[in-house]
Amino acid sequence: MLEALRRIVQEVNNARDLEQALAIIVQRVKLAVGADVCSVYLNDFDKRHHVLQASDGLRAAAVGRVRLEMGRGLIGLVSERAEPINLDDAFNHPRYQCITDTGETSYHGFLGAPIIQNRKVLGVLVLRQRDKRHFDDAEVTFVVTLASQLAGAITFARTSGELARLQDDGIPQRFLPGLAASPGVGLGQAVVVYPPADLDAVPDRVPEGVEGEIDHFREALDQVAADLDRFASHTHSHLGAEDMALFDAWRLMLESDTLVDGTIGRIRAGNWAPGALRETIAEHTRVFDAMDDAYLRERASDIRDLGRCILMHLQNRTVDPLRYAEQTILVGEEISALQIAEVPRERLAGIVSTKGSGSSHVGILARSMGIPAAMGVSDLPVSRVEGREMIVDGYRGRVYVSPTPAVRTEYLRLAEDDVALTKELKALCHLPAETTDGYQVPLYLNTGLVSESRPLGIEESAGVGLYRTELPFLVRDSFPGEAAQMANYRQVLELFAPRPVTIRTLDIGGDKPLPYFPMQESNPFLGWRGVRITLDHPEIFLAQVRAILRAAVGLDNLQLLLPMISTITELEDALQLIHRAHDELREEGYQVHMPPVGVMIEVPAAVYLIDSLARRVDFLSVGTNDLTQYLLAVDRNNPHVAELYDEFHPAVLRALMQIVSGARVHGREVSVCGEMAGDPLAIFLLLGMGVHSLSMGAGSLLRVKRVIRSISRARAREVLQMTLQCEDGASVRRLLLDELESMGLGALVRPGR
Ligand code: PEP
Ligand code: MG
Repeated sequence: MLEALRRIVQEVNNARDLEQALAIIVQRVKLAVGADVCSVYLNDFDKRHHVLQASDGLRAAAVGRVRLEMGRGLIGLVSERAEPINLDDAFNHPRYQCITDTGETSYHGFLGAPIIQNRKVLGVLVLRQRDKRHFDDAEVTFVVTLASQLAGAITFARTSGELARLQDDGIPQRFLPGLAASPGVGLGQAVVVYPPADLDAVPDRVPEGVEGEIDHFREALDQVAADLDRFASHTHSHLGAEDMALFDAWRLMLESDTLVDGTIGRIRAGNWAPGALRETIAEHTRVFDAMDDAYLRERASDIRDLGRCILMHLQNRTVDPLRYAEQTILVGEEISALQIAEVPRERLAGIVSTKGSGSSHVGILARSMGIPAAMGVSDLPVSRVEGREMIVDGYRGRVYVSPTPAVRTEYLRLAEDDVALTKELKALCHLPAETTDGYQVPLYLNTGLVSESRPLGIEESAGVGLYRTELPFLVRDSFPGEAAQMANYRQVLELFAPRPVTIRTLDIGGDKPLPYFPMQESNPFLGWRGVRITLDHPEIFLAQVRAILRAAVGLDNLQLLLPMISTITELEDALQLIHRAHDELREEGYQVHMPPVGVMIEVPAAVYLIDSLARRVDFLSVGTNDLTQYLLAVDRNNPHVAELYDEFHPAVLRALMQIVSGARVHGREVSVCGEMAGDPLAIFLLLGMGVHSLSMGAGSLLRVKRVIRSISRARAREVLQMTLQCEDGASVRRLLLDELESMGLGALVRPGR
């Protein structure tokens, strides 16, 4: 059964569309269990129907036509209860219904399993037997497992099928839900980026010239053949005959008509070489995947490997910078900071990814650039949207593909509102961030996630509150030396002088592993990260601190910040190394000064150590991104738990209050540099608590300034007190939203005026 399950899942994943995926399911499941009928009903939530969407055993003409009212019959019961129902004599069950339109005859044995994705029942997988039959435990487990395994594939296929139909018959436009990652509305054309040599992630695309594309494909085949020859001649002395035979098999496949002619045919039919190759390989692997013989099934993975090799050569061509549409919506399963940086900024209208969440580093980057973004849009069929018109609603995390004219018109209006808002906010650029009762809250900039000689937000900010130093470490193939690092830090210190610049020491690990510094960890966010790495490698830490101190000579606007501190020993060790770097540089004749040193409060342990930490440092900076993740035990990058990730959770608010009051005892200032600081809703809370300064991405500076200039500190304290009565984050958010709306500032956090 397990083997049958594995194969069905694989076949469904390779299916062309919804229809094929469901046809595979019903045929294979019926056969594996030996039932009379296997069908899939999918829920149509708009019309409140269960629609017969596939069947092996019922009349073919009924598929797509027969609709049961939601909640009726045994299908309705499975859907309602969201659990499997196994009946040996369904005929005598009060909810039994026989629908003659389907050609079904009366039945007794019934097994229905709900297909559930994210707590939502998408449909029901049903088995029926004319005679009485009790499906045994193994069969029930098989069907239940299959239904749950297939939920994602069905959602994906369903959505892509819907997309295709959307264009044909203009059924009402639905949006694809995701997570709000960066506010704003973006309209443009989808440009899909995908990881190199990932065949499944290759999009369909119209080739520029068919003959050129075919030549390109043939060149790639020749290159793979040459690679194989080279590799075979290098390794023949130490490979067995069986392994060597694999090379011959690959050569044969490379020359086979099905691969060569099949792909060329698809190029001629209008797909570019990588897309055509993806389709050909998928077709081949489907055949092998369906074979009973385990050895032959393994050949499917050989074919996939061969496909990847060809793709690698196809992708070796240089990327044409002009392929970015004028209004590019950058789309991908996962999008990296480098892929974002590659798009000319004036062309980047939006970012959409199927994975990740707003609190991942790419979400932070989008916000700091002021680019509307939705992440975790898991239903988006990435490979099928290249070149399509797309709308991103970054306020609500919604994406529309090929929108209807009505949706487009509405969003054009909202985009105009956004432009007007931006213009209005620009007028605040040179005004102080001061409350109506005269309290100043310096607003600093978070920068360093992408390389730019003049980051956005220079004019609007009071300096840099968080300079992330990971980038030069991430984009190279070895650690950058002291001189290279110094040049980097000098640039930012000079750019902002005399305003302060807070440089954070290296915070790699977690979701920022170094390619040349391999770490295999099952829980990277709980592992070797930030100061834990640099203290274990004092040579890396010392080189960085030396570079930072030297960069500040003559400017004296530097502050140093230590990430991920969770023990006093870590802090003391780090301080000792900083003093050592300082003293050594003085001995070497550099006019360096000891800068103010602060710690990030981003691990719950640090909250409870606030007194001991505050005593030893000059300032504290709260990293709410990690603090929230660690306090709530919610991975900040995982869209499945993104709804639980909540900076307004009462536990986070209480931790923040504890930090501020602990710091006050020692007269230390507290800044917040996590994303919470850039959220207009959070300002009431942070101001009310007495946080001294805020640091945020460039895109948030003026929105936050707008809120600060509209409220008094006294009112912020009152609002804080009200939120402290709330027992969950959603209530806090509602309360803050009401407050913002009552001030006429709702447009800062939602689309429209
Ligand atoms: C944080 O954790 O809040 C923070 C600012 O650091 P980073 O997002 O770089 O982990
Ligand atoms: Mg952090």
